[in-house]
Amino acid sequence: MNPVRIFKFGGASVKDAEAVRNVSSILDLFPDDALIVVVSAMGKTTNALEELHRARYSGSPVEEILEHIHTFHLNICRDLLGSREAAAELMQPLMATLRAAVAAPCSDRYDREYDQVVSLGEWISTSIIHGYLESTGASSQLADARRVVRTDDRFRDARVDWTASALSITPLREALTPGSRIIIQGFIGAAPDGATTTLGREGSDFTAAIMAYLLDAGDVTIWKDVPGMLNADPKRFPDSVKLDCISFREAIELAYYGASVIHPKTIKPLQNKGIPLYIKSFIDPAAAGTVIQESTERDHLVPSFIIKDNQVLISLSTRDFSFVVEDNLRDIFDTLVQLGVRIHLMENSAISFSMVVDHDPYKQEQLLQAFAGRYAIRYNEGVTLATIRHYHDSTIRRLTEGREILLEQRSRQTVRMVMR
Ligand code: ASP
Ligand code: MG
Repeated sequence: MNPVRIFKFGGASVKDAEAVRNVSSILDLFPDDALIVVVSAMGKTTNALEELHRARYSGSPVEEILEHIHTFHLNICRDLLGSREAAAELMQPLMATLRAAVAAPCSDRYDREYDQVVSLGEWISTSIIHGYLESTGASSQLADARRVVRTDDRFRDARVDWTASALSITPLREALTPGSRIIIQGFIGAAPDGATTTLGREGSDFTAAIMAYLLDAGDVTIWKDVPGMLNADPKRFPDSVKLDCISFREAIELAYYGASVIHPKTIKPLQNKGIPLYIKSFIDPAAAGTVIQESTERDHLVPSFIIKDNQVLISLSTRDFSFVVEDNLRDIFDTLVQLGVRIHLMENSAISFSMVVDHDPYKQEQLLQAFAGRYAIRYNEGVTLATIRHYHDSTIRRLTEGREILLEQRSRQTVRMVMR
């Protein structure tokens, strides 16, 4: 048998009945392949479930939110199955599970409870898609990711237990035959005690990579509403172009600087086993898309632009004119770790340390309190952090025209600028 292929469909690709039919027609393009089909919650369901969880914990009414989730999915089911009764029958146990999860008394384990509720979006979506495929006579099996993806118990941000998962995937591997479609939830797994865990928001891409790694897949395809990975945000750069072929290394770099096309954790398992990742359009499945693979040969061909607005440049200077050296740096980093502040760029000089962080008034106030006394602090709010990979003088000029550059860092491949 040819190696299994992993397909991932995100929330936008299953946001309504039309979209689900489109997923089915994409699967039909691969009649002889064994496919693992990783699916996210439909549309904005994960956000709705988060709202439900918050309402539950704050003692606010949950009924309206539940009803909204129910109606949204029920309408999709009706459209897909063409019958009220069949739709109601499919939805009934799914809603019962959700209602039971919400009706349970609130424990003091907020994150754990979050995962029990929020994970159900994926369970509902995969159950509906499986039900629909069966109704069309297509072959399809529904798998439970909680029996495959074993994790630790860091709820909402669970780490994969690769050894345990490699064992528990055996039945799934054995079920694969040419033409099989195994539908499985993205984003979710199970802790050692069996409780459901989630892998962090947007984690379904990562699930696809986990499946690929564990099953030694031939390739992974993430089906999206864009033609592939673009070199810049098209809303900002109308002349953005598609990257045809980039390396795993380049994809990791772009993710680090803030490109948001794929979940950053996705690359590592694929890179480890040399499994190529395709990003393709579910609107135009025949188009080539982007491939992310081992070779770095073509990385330099197209410059990439990553822009982060609404950043704050914070500079700390020692009050007594002592150098900023190892001691102070340790002290500064300890505080940043404690406060959970993520640094996007940093630089130090003789008596100061500068960093760029997301604008967050609450965290800023905490930082101020933590550092006051020890350092003099200066803020530059509302600045932009621009990163260009594979830059040229002309690409830099284009970006910085008419702007004041507060800080700049250049390496051979990358230039980063803090601008006002
Ligand atoms: N449904 C989850 C989320 O929206 C996971 C995913 O879509 O990747 O975060
Ligand atoms: Mg999603």
